[in-house]
Amino acid sequence: MVNGYLPTTLKEALELLNEHNLRIVAGGTDMLVQHHNLKTLPIDFKQDVLYIANIPELQGITEDDEYIRIGACEPLESILEHPATPKLLKDTIIEMASPAIRHSGTLGGNIGNASPAGDSLVPLYLMNAALEIQSIEGTRTVDIKEFITGVRKIALKPNELITKIILDKVEFTKAIFKKVGPRRSDAISKLSFAGAITIQDNKITDLRFAFGSVNITVVRHPEIECNYITKTVEELKQSVDDIVGAYQNFIRPIDDQRSNKAYRKQVSLNLLRDFIVTL
Ligand SMILES: Cc1cc2nc3c(=O)[nH]c(=O)nc-3n(C[C@H](O)[C@H](O)[C@H](O)COP(=O)(O)OP(=O)(O)OC[C@H]3O[C@@H](n4cnc5c(N)ncnc54)[C@H](O)[C@@H]3O)c2cc1C
Repeated sequence: MVNGYLPTTLKEALELLNEHNLRIVAGGTDMLVQHHNLKTLPIDFKQDVLYIANIPELQGITEDDEYIRIGACEPLESILEHPATPKLLKDTIIEMASPAIRHSGTLGGNIGNASPAGDSLVPLYLMNAALEIQSIEGTRTVDIKEFITGVRKIALKPNELITKIILDKVEFTKAIFKKVGPRRSDAISKLSFAGAITIQDNKITDLRFAFGSVNITVVRHPEIECNYITKTVEELKQSVDDIVGAYQNFIRPIDDQRSNKAYRKQVSLNLLRDFIVTL
């Protein structure tokens, strides 16, 4: 028998987290699958549960001149429909699960789950997303790449919550997200890729690549990307073999029920190559 807490304010939620050892549940679309047990329906939680999906301070999307701030419990479907959501994130969310799951599932939950196959993580790494984290002790901001430390591992203290996802307002000349799954929708990724480029006066001013499901966390290497800043697109295309070669060692997928490592590696590198040669 476990207790469930249903706070109505962020303050109340943070106080409860500070007093008790609680399992956080937002939309529950990951948690209910992980704790599903046919013998013990309903859901077999081993720990008291804090339900946060209805807390107003964790919802909504705001923007100013520099940043877009997405509430951790804003449902994926609402993020998809919001005018402030960057197109790259919309192009990703539309490929996630099904409308029914997206109405419950949240961006904070996709990050908190820290699955190597978490689709939103790929554009979030590419966009240098920062996370606002709160506890009763205060607020801190952390880069997503520092926050996700391994497969289902996050740098979150037991009394902390992810409260917002913060994105720079940046416009790319071209940005794409490609997901390869067993079917077109409602499918977990075999692999995914995001690429973005900004070109001004025929020179590259920004270049970013991110790969999902091919290592323990999203693969992104700014030190490779920055070699091509100030080059022309033609020069970038001429360097495509070098760029693909540079990622060879960083793409280290595993074999599992969805795919195998040879396929994942080859197709990821093909998507990178395709992004560059079709610019
Ligand atoms: C049928 C189906 C299809 C799916 N398809 C996809 C898909 O295509 N792509 C994909 O990436 N995922 C997919 N998922 C997984 C899931 O829907 C997403 O990961 C979703 O974003 C999880 O959000 P949630 O709010 O439901 O998380 P929850 O299940 O509530 O929580 C997930 C984890 O995050 C933690 N957490 C949640 N919110 C916070 C917070 N604010 N602060 C700290 N920790 C928090 C929880 O403690 C838990 O560990 C699918 C799931 C199902 C059931």
